[in-house]
Amino acid sequence: MIASKFEFRSPKDVEEAVRLYREFQGEAVYLSGGTDLVPRMKLGLEKPKAVVDLKRIVPLTTVEDQGDWIRIGPLARIFDLKQNDLVREDFPVLEASLEATSCESLQMRGTIGGNLLQNSRCLFYNQSEFWRRSKGFCLKMGGESCNAIPGAKTCFANYCSDNAPALCTLSAEIEIFGPDGARRLNLDELYTNKAGKPFNLQPSTW
Ligand SMILES: Cc1cc2nc3c(=O)[nH]c(=O)nc-3n(C[C@H](O)[C@H](O)[C@H](O)COP(=O)(O)OP(=O)(O)OC[C@H]3O[C@@H](n4cnc5c(N)ncnc54)[C@H](O)[C@@H]3O)c2cc1C
Repeated sequence: MIASKFEFRSPKDVEEAVRLYREFQGEAVYLSGGTDLVPRMKLGLEKPKAVVDLKRIVPLTTVEDQGDWIRIGPLARIFDLKQNDLVREDFPVLEASLEATSCESLQMRGTIGGNLLQNSRCLFYNQSEFWRRSKGFCLKMGGESCNAIPGAKTCFANYCSDNAPALCTLSAEIEIFGPDGARRLNLDELYTNKAGKPFNLQPSTW
């Protein structure tokens, strides 16, 4: 399966990333490790006009000791993070959830930011466009009914992050950068509890 055409941008800092995102008026996506995004693009679940690759923004990879808490850059790879001394010594629940995340080859590519923002999945949704069309679009695709559970009025796609529950129990906060600067929220406020639209984020205001 081949992703639809897109422009590729590789900003060198957060400000440039946000500017590029804005330039494409909500039709750009951020790329970190690509383990969630790239398969979605190949299946035609995402058809962005632009992919904004964050990997050149080195400060986003760091883990800093801030006294009572640590600050984890969203581009920290799961494999590196689970071996980080600050995580291992002070946050064993996070170390355990990172360890439980898939396999080491995935951990070496996937980042913590991407892990928290991975989309919800369903066997009837994460399929090719041809397959989905033949089955009829489901609730998560804007259709009328659920293909997994006949008669269901709501979407049952699963959100799979092992690290989100661990970080929520630690009362983690996230910082989101957008055109109006940075804002902070408790991690649990990021989630809608709705499988069809899992995140409380407005693409146009990122
Ligand atoms: C085979 C397989 C098995 C898996 N098993 C598990 C498992 O057992 N447990 C588990 O928790 N997860 C599992 N996952 C999910 C995996 O952990 C995620 O795919 C991965 O962590 C995503 O990180 P990434 O850097 O590759 O994100 P990407 O694919 O690059 O991005 C994911 C999403 O987040 C957005 N995004 C990424 N970074 C940022 C950022 N800094 N700012 C704003 N938006 C951003 C992207 O636009 C995209 O929508 C599995 C995935 C696969 C493919």
